[in-house]
Amino acid sequence: MATTVGILGGGQLARMMAVAGASLGLRFRIVDTVPDACASQVAPLLCADYTDLDAMARFAETVDVVTFDFENVPADTAMFLATRVPVFPNPQALAVAQDRIEEKQMFARLGLATPAFAAVDSREDLEAAAQSVGLPAILKTRRLGYDGKGQFRVRTAADLDAAWAALGGVPLILESFVPFEREISVIAVRGRDGAFATWPLAQNFHQNAILSASVSPAPHADAVEPIATSYARRIAEELDYVGVFALELFERDGGLIANEMAPRVHNSGHWTIEGAVTSQFENHLRAVTGLPLGSTQPRGTSVLLNWIGELPDAAAVLREPFGHWHDYGKSPRAGRKVGHATVNGATNEVAATLTRLAAALDRPDQIAPALDALRA
Ligand code: AMP
Repeated sequence: MATTVGILGGGQLARMMAVAGASLGLRFRIVDTVPDACASQVAPLLCADYTDLDAMARFAETVDVVTFDFENVPADTAMFLATRVPVFPNPQALAVAQDRIEEKQMFARLGLATPAFAAVDSREDLEAAAQSVGLPAILKTRRLGYDGKGQFRVRTAADLDAAWAALGGVPLILESFVPFEREISVIAVRGRDGAFATWPLAQNFHQNAILSASVSPAPHADAVEPIATSYARRIAEELDYVGVFALELFERDGGLIANEMAPRVHNSGHWTIEGAVTSQFENHLRAVTGLPLGSTQPRGTSVLLNWIGELPDAAAVLREPFGHWHDYGKSPRAGRKVGHATVNGATNEVAATLTRLAAALDRPDQIAPALDALRA
């Protein structure tokens, strides 16, 4: 009997998992709260609320293992499912990654460098946290934040009232502002048997707090790569993690400061589809189904370009010999991730391709930083 993988969340991550898993002979069933979730174009979808435990029980009966395409599945639902079917990553790991305070406390306990941080539950706490953490700082919601949502920059004490007015009322965290040189991520995978691997680091670029481009292997990262790998290994072992996760890091003065982890396949790892021997999607599925992990070695250099809001002209990418096009099958909407392109090859070929794409697509602000990083 073919193994059936259940995925909670039916976005592009579930979609790319299902595409990668087809060649392994895996079947998929996906749950999402909306009927037109884009993964439903490639695998059967159960449209249900994650808190509907009757629906979750029916779903559990149709799958051999459960995993996630997003981290904000209610922890109670993950625990309920885990009483019926194996769930990877385990619900405890998911719970830690859902709460920025618990996550940062774990990082600190494991000896990872972090920004100074403090929990904020009241206006008085915020005052005290500003004293202990120091300003400038960033106020963030402890839960449910992503792509810069639920964040407020506190430059001076005069901003505290506005920060509290914007975010107060839910549990918060104040973090010192890190004047980083660049943003890096490491994607890691751990198998059911404890096998562990990381892909080469990605250097990440953002526009409006959303990932716009990644370059991997991150240029000039030989000195920090062992730090990132060691951080990721400590987290994986602490959480008895099974599957892929991402750790987002700030590089500063030759060191790495841990920002946050994502307990799932990650946008800054999409380049692995063409740019690594085994993609993050395939290795996540190998991990959660108990298969041996594949090699995470890179094939040349990759640059990932995210398409936010709407797709650009596909032909401009498709006519490039080193260009790869990914359309998530979503309707356009401001701020929505609707697709990506990966340019993969020798560094000089990638740079030449990006130069042509910059001209053809009229997206200089997106492409120029990646090109500069490649040429540096
Ligand atoms: P996050 O949702 O925590 O990943 O934050 C989104 C973006 O905000 C990050 O990619 C950084 O560019 C920026 N950011 C978050 N936290 C900090 C910090 N403590 N210091 C400086 N920049 C930050």
